[in-house]
Amino acid sequence: MAVKIMIDAGHGGWDNGAQFEGRKEKDDTLSLALAVGRILAENGIDVEYTRTDDIYETPLKKATDANESGADYFVSIHRNSGTIPEQYIGVQTLVYNDSGVAHRMAENINSELASLGFVNIGIEERPNLVVLRRTTMPAVLVEAGFINSNKDNAIFDSQFDAVATAIADGIMQTIG
Ligand SMILES: [Zn+2]
Repeated sequence: MAVKIMIDAGHGGWDNGAQFEGRKEKDDTLSLALAVGRILAENGIDVEYTRTDDIYETPLKKATDANESGADYFVSIHRNSGTIPEQYIGVQTLVYNDSGVAHRMAENINSELASLGFVNIGIEERPNLVVLRRTTMPAVLVEAGFINSNKDNAIFDSQFDAVATAIADGIMQTIG
């Protein structure tokens, strides 16, 4: 049976996520989530999405959908944001508990993204995030650069396909 992965585009609908100069996190997360999912599907992985258009679902609904789908892994896509524009740069992956397969997946995704020029700011444990806490399978939340960093947005936009491939490669290296 094929491995099943639930891909979650962060935010959506009324929840724009972080915003910077008219750019909305919910749009970046959706386009990147769909691109990552397309690559995984091309590689024989059974992909499901928490959303494929601009709608809001609660984090608990997303986690419940993942649990009920029988997904083997949960990958949530976000963009980071600092309090002040240009304050921070880099990619970071959040996990419920920094161990086991989620740790390895986070490490692989971060290092693939760093190869595109993003600064790797590492892995962080976030045990209170609902999509990490309430999912029953290994789960990671990828912060694909800061939305209020022009340097990170330049990588995100000019190398969009490579960013999607990097995340997909990091996932596939882990589940090998
Ligand atoms: Zn977010």
